[in-house]
Amino acid sequence: MIGAVFSAPYILIQRRIIMDCLFCKIIDGEIPSTKVYEDEFVFAFKDIAPIAPVHYLIIPKVHISCANEITEENSNAVAKVFEAAAKIAKAEGIESYRIINNCGDDAGQTVKHLHFHMLAGIKMGWGPESLGKTE
Ligand code: 5GP
Ligand code: ZN
Repeated sequence: MIGAVFSAPYILIQRRIIMDCLFCKIIDGEIPSTKVYEDEFVFAFKDIAPIAPVHYLIIPKVHISCANEITEENSNAVAKVFEAAAKIAKAEGIESYRIINNCGDDAGQTVKHLHFHMLAGIKMGWGPESLGKTE
């Protein structure tokens, strides 16, 4: 299934099997969220603890635990995330934004369902200081 887009029923069953995932539960509405976008493959919602005036989380509906688990078989989910980001930006008139993915503990990944932070609404710096180093 190289480069394939997983079907909606497959994605639903796969999410049901992953019983203990916070973001799978948000997609299924078991945990409430403020949705900003949804299509067959992607769900986007406001981050509960925003670090910018606009802080959305864009996630694939298929459960992928982190960026390191992206393969030839499932990488289309990432393309769908970026398609969604462009649609959200156009719909909301957002001209500049940053998309961040944290992969692994040292990078600050706390939820083990692949997600992309979409940040906007402030002028952002770029450089070592923008990494938010903790030690
Ligand atoms: P990470 O640190 O894994 O890259 O990002 C996880 C993000 O999920 C954090 O920015 C955190 O604020 C957000 N988050 C955690 N739990 C919830 C929740 O229950 N609802 C929403 N909307 N965001 C959450
Ligand atoms: Zn999940």
